[in-house]
Amino acid sequence: MTKIIKADPAPYPKSNIPENKAISIFEHIIHENVKTDIRKNDKVPNTDGILEITNDNQIPLGRIDVQIKKLSDNNLKIPKHQCNLKYLAYCERSILPTLLILVDTTNDVAYWLSIDKNLLKYLAPLIKDGAKSLTVSIPTENIIKKKNKDYLEKWIEIINKHKEKLDNYDFLEKENLHLKSSYTVLADENNLIFGKTKSNFEAIHNPEIASKVCLKAFLDSFKMNHDMEESLQIALDTAKEANKNLELSINQYNTLKGQIIFYAKKHDLFELKLDDKLGDKPADFYSPNTNRYFDILTNPDYADIEDYLRCDSKEYKIAYVDTKSEEIEIIPTVFPTCPKCGGCLHSIFFLDNQYDNEIDIGFSYTQQDLVSLCIECGTSKIVDTVNYYINGPDFYPEYDFRYQDPNGFKEFSQKIWTRIGNFARKEFNVFISAVTCLEEEMWLAKDDFITVENPKWIHPILQLNSQNINKTIYFPTDNIYRE
Ligand SMILES: [Zn+2]
Repeated sequence: MTKIIKADPAPYPKSNIPENKAISIFEHIIHENVKTDIRKNDKVPNTDGILEITNDNQIPLGRIDVQIKKLSDNNLKIPKHQCNLKYLAYCERSILPTLLILVDTTNDVAYWLSIDKNLLKYLAPLIKDGAKSLTVSIPTENIIKKKNKDYLEKWIEIINKHKEKLDNYDFLEKENLHLKSSYTVLADENNLIFGKTKSNFEAIHNPEIASKVCLKAFLDSFKMNHDMEESLQIALDTAKEANKNLELSINQYNTLKGQIIFYAKKHDLFELKLDDKLGDKPADFYSPNTNRYFDILTNPDYADIEDYLRCDSKEYKIAYVDTKSEEIEIIPTVFPTCPKCGGCLHSIFFLDNQYDNEIDIGFSYTQQDLVSLCIECGTSKIVDTVNYYINGPDFYPEYDFRYQDPNGFKEFSQKIWTRIGNFARKEFNVFISAVTCLEEEMWLAKDDFITVENPKWIHPILQLNSQNINKTIYFPTDNIYRE
């Protein structure tokens, strides 16, 4: 057939094919309570359309602005996307909440990321001078797949928060002004002390920059020599330099050292990443393979345990790093719950079977139980038993000075109990909340003795702020009795 007009119609741009496939898959896997109004072959900048979320009765709850992209085949394991800064600017000004959605067209799943003010604040310092885009990664738990609707609840929460912000806009604006002026006062005081100016930006972001530089130094070296100790040393040397150049505070420098040690020793096991996740309180590290978050703690004496507790259901752990011995202890912030009462179950190391040494220098314990104890209702269960000779403080000759120097003795005996607690942690590979043993106590009349179980040592992290803190970590310092 001869053509009247000797030309082809304009083709669809080729680049649209993968994007259109991504949109089709997204529309196929999304839950029926999400109504989509998404344009294919889209020419409108910044946005691909709108999602409207409804409840089960199909009543609309709110709308979200979306941009949908095909997830690059290279990034299927760790979903990320090179975001145009213009898009981020659009999100900042958008009246609707904004979601970036990356569709994995190989596995028919998608990942979502809410681009809100908190995220933007977090990203802003990472944008390099003159850059037009920035790589943004999405936590794999933000998954969208057929027959799963976990994300719906989170999206509704995002919509509600967004509405709240619009309603409270005036109030928040005032609050912001107030914060700004308090900051100026603080900064001025600092200048008086240090005699130099530090910008707001530096004070907040220097630690982040320092940890990125040091962890990179570790990885670069480790990839070459596969020598953990040597690479750790290189990273610690880098930290020393960073500390000089970036003027970190003592705390920031210690935390940096803790981060490096933890990363060097655990990055293989947990596939650690710096937590680029957003939210109000990002953790120091995120481990995608275990889906856990880690906060680094270097000095339990001054820690405020509440800083480590969050309201969401993510699994946060405290990584207590002794920067001198380079030992690491992983501390949970949420404990298993008691099947009887819902209270929290702690692992107690119980020293049993006191044994009078033949050479008559004090007591040893010959049997030890790992006990799971509910601190609310007192239910307990022996989980494991081992037999070692474990010497309590009175075994040691230093015990003799207990009357002359009670404070010195107290310190000495805590050291011994701490050592026993550490032993138990390594033996059972579990967080030990307390070490206890049976003891005779005088009761009412002088000759009346009863046997009670006294905690000899309680993990220092559990003794902090024991008033009013989240029940999941609270540990009473009163005697613990077993059934
Ligand atoms: Zn209980």
